Amino acid sequence: MSGKSASSRAAIYGRNSSAKQKSINDQQAENRAFAEANGWTVVAELDDPSSASRYATKSRTNWARLLELLPSIDVVVLWEPSRGDRTLATWVAFLDACREHQVRVAAVSHSRVYDPRNPRDYRSLAEDGVDSAYESDKTSGRVRRGHATAASAGRPHAPTTYGYVRRYDPATRAFLEQLPHPEHAAVVRDIIVSVGRGEPLHQVTHRLNASRTATPRGGAAWYHSTIRGIAGNQAYRPHPDDPARGVRMHNGDLHIGQWPPLVTESEWQAAQAVLGGNSETARRARRNSAPGQIKYLLSGNSAVMTAACGSMLSGFCATDGRGATYGCKMDRCASAPMPEVDEYVTRLVVARLARQDARRLWVVDDVASRAAEEELSQLRAELEAARQSFYRPGGISAEALAGKEAAMVPAIEDARRRAQPAGAPLALLELIEAGKFGTERVQAAWEAFPLPARREVIAGLFGALTLGPATVRLTRWTPPAERLAVVADRISHEWSHA
Ligand SMILES: [Zn+2]
Repeated sequence: MSGKSASSRAAIYGRNSSAKQKSINDQQAENRAFAEANGWTVVAELDDPSSASRYATKSRTNWARLLELLPSIDVVVLWEPSRGDRTLATWVAFLDACREHQVRVAAVSHSRVYDPRNPRDYRSLAEDGVDSAYESDKTSGRVRRGHATAASAGRPHAPTTYGYVRRYDPATRAFLEQLPHPEHAAVVRDIIVSVGRGEPLHQVTHRLNASRTATPRGGAAWYHSTIRGIAGNQAYRPHPDDPARGVRMHNGDLHIGQWPPLVTESEWQAAQAVLGGNSETARRARRNSAPGQIKYLLSGNSAVMTAACGSMLSGFCATDGRGATYGCKMDRCASAPMPEVDEYVTRLVVARLARQDARRLWVVDDVASRAAEEELSQLRAELEAARQSFYRPGGISAEALAGKEAAMVPAIEDARRRAQPAGAPLALLELIEAGKFGTERVQAAWEAFPLPARREVIAGLFGALTLGPATVRLTRWTPPAERLAVVADRISHEWSHA
């Protein structure tokens, strides 16, 4: 190629995502400066003021003009790759044309010049097209630009999501990556998992304030609303199509974030079930977290435990120096000391969940969800293979990949939905998981759960759990070992699955 030596011929191209003309001017100024710094001759300056969104396809005349110029230029200068084209197929067609005409692609915000003939460079560029989050990502595009401006003006940049740290290039101040914060990431995990297990928001709030845990943005204290905001923030959850990365929400769509998630999908879902709307789980969690309702393990709800007459148990805190008791308030048909009743029921639960068949019995739709899980990983592998293929020179075409994606994404979405084990509270799943490692692990996991989670597990495990009338009377002189046996004798139970 005769024109590809000496001074390279460059075309600079600018586009805005929100029709702010000034931002295009800024882009072009920096594109021009970048070209000059590299000793390139700018032979064309093109811009399109329309949105780079894949939905805005109207006034992209200059992008088309740029494609026509490719045979006669050596390098295209863009503020960032995703400023080129948000439609996967046309973006890849652009890259293919650049490869064919030996045109390099300069990404000014990356301070990098890519050569699409180099497979690694091609892949980097293509990924920016594949990953639509890139453009809309807070940490890129507009905000990265804003950050550069803000830094030069001495103003602080937009706040980093709590739980993460961001790394910037010390020289260019360009954003490099977002990583879990060494301490705050664990706080985020704790909040989401605790909320998912049914620990009331006020309790989580109190706990974090009591332990003087660092607050977001250096606030004086943790508040309900902060906890709720963190527990419901999609940034922390794995992206459904790329579980190694978090979620970037943009206009109500889930995009792949440029950071790792902090919790698993099931942990995140459990928290949403508690926080969200009018689901049965949410109602149950609210009821159980109402003041005075969750003081005791087994009282206050006939779904948890009943007296012989069928009514719920009440907890009585002794005022006369004797221990707390459970009893029937309706007709006083039953009464027993609380520590022994709790102890016996706990033993029943732990022993049952440590059994081999626990998972089969209590994880509803388990076979179906595991089959869906397998199907999901196959679909993901298939899609990933297609993407890998099109990154390679000589691989499948952009149209083929776009067609494949269009066909597979709904199937992946469907499999993912079916892969969620239905019906089993997260706490129960965790206990059953612990059961694989023996009774002690179940016991330890059980003790770590807050009361609402334990109550929910009990309500799910037992078909009936009843405190019957006294057969042998207890006195304060009955020895401890005997007390447990006497109380156990009053309790009858049926498992919800035999
Ligand atoms: Zn009764």
